[in-house]
Amino acid sequence: MNSNSQSTPTLQLTTTTQFIKGVGPARAEQLRRLGIRTALDLLFFLPRDYEHPAPRMRIADLKENLPASFVGTITEVDQITTQAGKTILGVLVEDDSGAARMMFFNQPYRLDALPRGLRVLVSGKPRLSGLRMELVHPKVIPLEEDEQAGDQGILPIYPLTEGINQSQMRRAIATVVDELAGEIAEVIPETIRQQATLVSIDEAMRNIHRPHDQAALDAARRRLIFQELFILQLALALRRRKLTSDLRSPPLPVDAAIDARILKRFPFELTGDQKKAFAEVSADMARQFPMNRLVQGDVGSGKTVIAQYAMLLAVANKHQAVLMAPTEVLARQHFETFRKSLSRSRVRLGLLTGTLSTLDRREVLKAAADGEIDLLVGTQALLNDKVVFKQLGLVVIDEQHKFGVSQRANLRRGGLDPHYLVLSATPIPRTVAMAAFGDLDVTTLKEKPPGRSQVHTYLAKDDWAQRWWDFLGQRVREGRQAFVVAPRVDSSDQEDVSSAQQIFDELRTGPLKSFRIGLLHGRMTPEEKNDTMTRFAQGRLQVLVATTVIEVGIDVPNATVMTILGANRFGLAQLHQLRGRVWRGSHPGYVCVFTDNEGLPEDDERLKTFASTSDGFALAEADYRMRGPGDLLGVRQSGMPPLRVADPLRDTEILEAARDLAMEIVDNDPHLEDPSLALLKQRVLTRYGNSLDLGDVA
Ligand code: ADP
Ligand code: MG
Repeated sequence: MNSNSQSTPTLQLTTTTQFIKGVGPARAEQLRRLGIRTALDLLFFLPRDYEHPAPRMRIADLKENLPASFVGTITEVDQITTQAGKTILGVLVEDDSGAARMMFFNQPYRLDALPRGLRVLVSGKPRLSGLRMELVHPKVIPLEEDEQAGDQGILPIYPLTEGINQSQMRRAIATVVDELAGEIAEVIPETIRQQATLVSIDEAMRNIHRPHDQAALDAARRRLIFQELFILQLALALRRRKLTSDLRSPPLPVDAAIDARILKRFPFELTGDQKKAFAEVSADMARQFPMNRLVQGDVGSGKTVIAQYAMLLAVANKHQAVLMAPTEVLARQHFETFRKSLSRSRVRLGLLTGTLSTLDRREVLKAAADGEIDLLVGTQALLNDKVVFKQLGLVVIDEQHKFGVSQRANLRRGGLDPHYLVLSATPIPRTVAMAAFGDLDVTTLKEKPPGRSQVHTYLAKDDWAQRWWDFLGQRVREGRQAFVVAPRVDSSDQEDVSSAQQIFDELRTGPLKSFRIGLLHGRMTPEEKNDTMTRFAQGRLQVLVATTVIEVGIDVPNATVMTILGANRFGLAQLHQLRGRVWRGSHPGYVCVFTDNEGLPEDDERLKTFASTSDGFALAEADYRMRGPGDLLGVRQSGMPPLRVADPLRDTEILEAARDLAMEIVDNDPHLEDPSLALLKQRVLTRYGNSLDLGDVA
């Protein structure tokens, strides 16, 4: 290579942008604001959209307001200057079918560029002016005497930042694409490309930036989307493989006697979906490698019994089980549920939360280590205390979308690995789950327990407050109970607390003064919280004013009325979770949402969506569409790097193809040792090695 060339050094993928033709130091600085430092970054700076050329027509066929392009010859040019000094340039263009006029205002420099006799390619949106079509500020490309007007290609539209316009960006990227597209490493071997009908990375890069036509663009997009999803699916397949073949768990099988013994503890008939879940869970737990199952179901679909079943199955097999819940209130509720249903059994229960006294905590820890506790329920404290078990067989995480990811790994170390069951009330669209949690098996509870009645959701109008409190009062007099959720003030817990306190005081002395009303928030002592929650659960309190501490899991079926204040400050998933609290019994539920005066238009849209359906799956999809995949609760929590070009909801077909192929490859070559896969493997490990803990696959 010629190293003494002084003009332009050879462009390489690592060249910083300021050395690219037409960029320079100032523009390089602006590019940096878009996260672009090198030529490689520019190559992977993908268009956010495309401009499609207007269809070519004869002038006589132009239709008003329909973008079009045509070729003609300039036959008349006429510029006038108004009294105010403005210029108006009119240019007549003719082809053999007719004539159209182009108009340019205040662009006097056009005059010289558009002489009579010049052939031009014109595109724009015509409008009828008198008898003639007229185009204001159309795009004009001069043609040589006998030049054929080729099809204008599809033009990329890039995200921009101040100081760089679209054509500068196009030019910089075009330079890089021309010189360097061929240098990008091809990570997908030929055989796989053929199998999946993918174009080469070289072709994909050229056509994503400068597509010849729609088909080329589609092929390029497909290749890039496939690559992103394929690398992800390979990572997930490797992890799944690792979990099933490298890790050992105690088999905890079920038999008819155990099954019957567990089932008789449930006071109701199981739904079909619950039975199916039991079958899936017990099949998983009978194997000698860890179960990795996500049970997802809408709020109130009855996920708790799945956890109970699995835990009692572990105990029946002489192993311990642990259940972790995201809040203290919920952990206590689970503990109580177990205590009631196990009151006449030999199963020993323990509760571990962050607020136990040191003495109590020490006792629980010792009992767990000595195997004197069979079922341990707790909060994150379980992780902080690094509980040691004598013989742990099962870990259950309730409301897993409320936890961070690192917890995923944390509870599983030591000799045999426990089985692992996670429950989530944030339903994730199937394909999104496949992308984010592809290493987990998924059970979905669609059915609600029988006898569940409707829930009605209202968006309060400005003058509703009094009517609503009257309505709430009527329901309470009929024997029902009500929640009032105080608005979130900001992220600070303290202010939420004072807003709840203030609302509590207002209601207690005002509209709800004739009822027994309680207050629950995160700053109360555990005893106070527990006491309040118990009194509400027993019906001794009729109305509970609370912060979002009640958001997850709380189960008081007699509570049927919920007021959400400052609802504009809550996300869709959160609102739906809250609604789930009053949709549990046989009486209809009523939810009324009030907004404060700082609501934004997108808040309105979200609240309307919320009121329009109570189907958690439909809401999850709507949420996903409004906020984008990375933001979806649970997916964000999965801790994986976000997808850049693929969208699992849109690219379903590609996702499934990528997944099938990835599984097939990992089945045949569990460590990706085939030399043709070396680059691919490297990509997989760089991108997902950490988040999926693939370390020793390499
Ligand atoms: P979630 O899925 O939100 O965790 P829960 O497990 O708390 O739901 O169940 C919600 C309510 O439904 C609880 O009161 C529970 O006792 C009740 N439930 C669960 N399964 C059934 C069933 N098969 N029949 C009747 N009630 C049920
Ligand atoms: Mg629950």
